Amino acid sequence: MTLEILEWNTLDTRARQAALARPALEDRDTLVALVRETVARVRAEGDAAALDYARRFDGGAPVELRVSSSVIDAAVAQVGEDAINALRRAIDNVRRFHSAQMPANLSIETSPGVRCERIFRPIEAVGLYVPGGSAPLPSALIMSAVPAEIAGCGRRILCTPGTRAGRVDPVILATARLCGVEEVFALGGAQAIAAMAYGTQSIPKVDKIFGPGSAWVTAAKQIVAEDPAGAALDLPAGPSEVLVIADDHADAEFVASDLLAQAEHDPLSQAILLTPSATLARRVRECALGFLGRLSRRNILEKSLERSRIIIVPGIDAALEISNSYAPEHLILQVREPKRWLARVSAAGSVFLGPWSPEPLGDYCSGTNHVLPTYGYARAYSGLSVTDFQRRITVQEISASGLADLGPTATTLAGLEGLDAHALAVDVRLERLARERSQEKPAADDKVVSFDPTQLARPSIIALRAYEHAHWDTRLERLHANEAPWPPVTAADSTLNRYPEPQPASLVTTLATYYGVRTEQILVGRGSDEAIDLLTRAFCESGRDTVIVCPPTFGMYAVAANAQGARVIEAPLTKAFTLDVEGITRALDDGAKIVWICSPNNPTGNRMPTSQIATVLEKTRGRAIVVIDEAYAEFCPERSWIDRLADHPHLVVLRTLSKAHALAGARIGVAVAAPAIIGLLRKLIPPYALTTDSIVAAERALSPVGLAAMRVRIDTLRRERDRVANALDRSRWVKKIFPSDANFLLVETSDAATVESRIVASGMIVRNFTGRGGLGEVLRITIGTEAQNDRVLSALEAYAEN
Ligand code: PMP
Repeated sequence: MTLEILEWNTLDTRARQAALARPALEDRDTLVALVRETVARVRAEGDAAALDYARRFDGGAPVELRVSSSVIDAAVAQVGEDAINALRRAIDNVRRFHSAQMPANLSIETSPGVRCERIFRPIEAVGLYVPGGSAPLPSALIMSAVPAEIAGCGRRILCTPGTRAGRVDPVILATARLCGVEEVFALGGAQAIAAMAYGTQSIPKVDKIFGPGSAWVTAAKQIVAEDPAGAALDLPAGPSEVLVIADDHADAEFVASDLLAQAEHDPLSQAILLTPSATLARRVRECALGFLGRLSRRNILEKSLERSRIIIVPGIDAALEISNSYAPEHLILQVREPKRWLARVSAAGSVFLGPWSPEPLGDYCSGTNHVLPTYGYARAYSGLSVTDFQRRITVQEISASGLADLGPTATTLAGLEGLDAHALAVDVRLERLARERSQEKPAADDKVVSFDPTQLARPSIIALRAYEHAHWDTRLERLHANEAPWPPVTAADSTLNRYPEPQPASLVTTLATYYGVRTEQILVGRGSDEAIDLLTRAFCESGRDTVIVCPPTFGMYAVAANAQGARVIEAPLTKAFTLDVEGITRALDDGAKIVWICSPNNPTGNRMPTSQIATVLEKTRGRAIVVIDEAYAEFCPERSWIDRLADHPHLVVLRTLSKAHALAGARIGVAVAAPAIIGLLRKLIPPYALTTDSIVAAERALSPVGLAAMRVRIDTLRRERDRVANALDRSRWVKKIFPSDANFLLVETSDAATVESRIVASGMIVRNFTGRGGLGEVLRITIGTEAQNDRVLSALEAYAEN
């Protein structure tokens, strides 16, 4: 019977097990044998075999496996605006949620001299699979491509079946572009999995494969994952399922639609409702059967509803107990106070709370990942997250004294396990230490040899002796700095007669806490402009050294270089405003000293992909310093590169209080880097760079109250930014609005000069960047107050009406 209603209390143990049994999966022995053959042939013969299977199983094969970027460009142009906007919104939310998942490295001393660390490294190359079928599945791509980008995977390739003519669905191609996946191959099925696992002439080998697929694809993923030379898989696969727990408060239509939304996936899908209310049980069944008539996948639904159940349970407590042992992929709680019941959930892939949280939002666009453990695997597995795209590596570094202390413990344990060589590896060292100590030589404490980026600085700066400030001691009366002894004539309560502290200790501590670093890692100066100038002067010898800038970008990097007499090499951003990593690498071969990266970038507004910056940091290690200017970081929820300074001694991050903290007039900018680099900059900075008033203003802005207020304002500003973007998007004079992670929008217009003069005529000024760094007819519009923004909008509307 379809959607049978059962009563839990009347069932014996066997019947209860049967009620919650998952559909049996078909016998896969024959299929596995065939897939093994496919995998082996593709491994041995590469492209030719892959194309042969595509012809045989998919009814056609592309001429070229790789989808060219011009085909991707064309697809982007072909997909409707509504679809693009929806994809963007989904990607944004998934990006937001997954960025917040980035794990932090940890380093602790477990006993004196014994340091244990855990660090994360991206899996360099990952394969993303998106199945074909009657309709494209862009959400499947978003759910793997976005976390892969955030994790820093350098290479992300997409395999997806083409049509008979070998053409890939334009929606999938457009999604790939929006997610920054540029390597796309028109190949599906087991042959695609084999190709990614072992590599072919045209498809690169990857280390791990993500994405759903048919029984063939699943079998192929399992086969290549068993082989150490193959590729790992994401999660064990099974048919999708939902378990809804609803009380008499729940809306029967909502519950019925939740069951159907799940059941339409696959004839093997399972939807279960647990409710203490017999009335609700009946009404849900009626509603579900009523909806059935108007749904297009009725054939599938009829089959899956046969294995779906409504079970009347004694209460919500009992329902949760049953749910925890079933461990559903999706758990929907349509009960009063769902949040309170969440505490009782111990096994589920993803939980949806309350009447307004339907599962499709999680499937598509709320931000959570829809790749979840199903078929009972939620008892031990979890849904996809950023860490699935990373390796966790533990590190230990033990000093000689640490070994002397802990070594004997290891020797004892090695003795218990009868492993002599283990004991030997400790004992030879302990004996050496004992000998050295008896000869009164100092023990050779292990030193980690790592590159010192200050060696890249100008020799004269390394040798420079800093100006000696008047010494600071607030307890003493100051007659040592030739200051006036009285306050300024016009302000009796002021301390402006005194020099300010050069690097004000209290502000530096506040900044260090705000950015999560040590005080020696902070240089505070007159705006980040000053830091840009200092870095250039510290590292670039006039007439000899070069810097790399990526236009269109903030102009000061090149100005500072020119002022210092250093040469500027340009590695322009790509059309999508991402970094041209190869261009930067080529420029590095010319011996550049500094690579300037602005992220979010001014004036394009976008953040540079994590994986690209990670690659630049690898390529520059030991050769150049990389400065990431995060002037607009607060407007963008991504993680700051400051968190990764420990891994990159040659990285400098610039921040400013000029933007989000509303202190442009105070001129407070910060460089955050390894103490050695900061030490150089502190030698170079003019003696009393900050003014007393600015120091006070900065302290206030960074106080808990100041920061809380800033966050509220940023939320408002981001909402305004979206509102302005949406409104401008409807103006037919606006050709394109580039997505922004900052407090401004870059807008492409049909005629920038005219649009600009309209805006000026209404009393406002914006920046015209037309033609700069390869840009078209563009204006950069800062987001102002609501009233100011309205005036910009009406200026454009007035223009639109003429
Ligand atoms: N970096 C970028 C990317 C900027 O856009 C700006 C100013 N517009 C600065 C640095 C300079 O900021 P500050 O006020 O801290 O000197």
